[in-house]
Amino acid sequence: MTEEWPHPVTADRFPSPVPPGTGWPEDLARPSTPTARSADDVCQRADESRNLSELSAQVSVCRACGRLVAWRERVAHDKRRSFAAEPYWGRPVPGWGSDTPAVVIVGLAPAAHGGNRTGRIFTGDRSGDWLFAALHRAGLATLGTSVHAADGQRLIRTRMVAAVRCAPPDNRATPDERRTCAPWLSAELALVASTMRSVVCLGSFAWDATLRTVGGLGYLVPRPRPRFGHATRVDLSDQAYERSLAVFGSYHPSQQNTFTGKLTEEMLDAVIVAARDAA
Ligand code: SF4
Repeated sequence: MTEEWPHPVTADRFPSPVPPGTGWPEDLARPSTPTARSADDVCQRADESRNLSELSAQVSVCRACGRLVAWRERVAHDKRRSFAAEPYWGRPVPGWGSDTPAVVIVGLAPAAHGGNRTGRIFTGDRSGDWLFAALHRAGLATLGTSVHAADGQRLIRTRMVAAVRCAPPDNRATPDERRTCAPWLSAELALVASTMRSVVCLGSFAWDATLRTVGGLGYLVPRPRPRFGHATRVDLSDQAYERSLAVFGSYHPSQQNTFTGKLTEEMLDAVIVAARDAA
């Protein structure tokens, strides 16, 4: 018999990793949701997704990158000792938040014991604690913490996404894995483009991925591509649709940056507030 553990909020029991459509809070997939198993599959399914629910469901069952699938599931099986009594999501982490966001936050990838455990991006790790606190101070999140799916947290006019949807070993996806995952981000930003007015990129990888992606959606990105920096702002326009987009860079709220003082709460707040006001 498969071993199961109680979800920390609902107490429903799940294997670790969690099979799709078994009742995990915020899980949009069903057992029948089609699984992408190759880069071509990702392109096709991302292209065919008609709305965010369908896209997120398909993202959450993706198995296109063998190394990342093996890693995320091994972490979900082995767990960290402090979380040994709960199930890990152990699947790709889809975008989360408003379906009609004015502000989009782009991160690198889920954390092994954060999003890969809770199933919600930036949830259950120290980086997320910083980010959600800043969003709450700016009036973009209803709570100052995001602990677990079903905790009551809600984003206001804001959505969060990761450029790579699976937790990678050492927080580093390979160039191939990044390329394979890119169509999910592209499809998601396309689905919110009509309301999206500003993007906050957490770190240089998110910055590059965002500019590449919005360039593909029709926004005019200067050449050479603007360099990442904290509090850097680039204003883009999409002349075909007569819309504009303000892209902001921020140091990632990783412990490496927050412990050393490279990123302070005031610095993060200033970028989030600027993105909110630009939207
Ligand atoms: Fe699929 Fe992206 Fe995860 Fe690769 S990283 S398995 S493309 S969700």
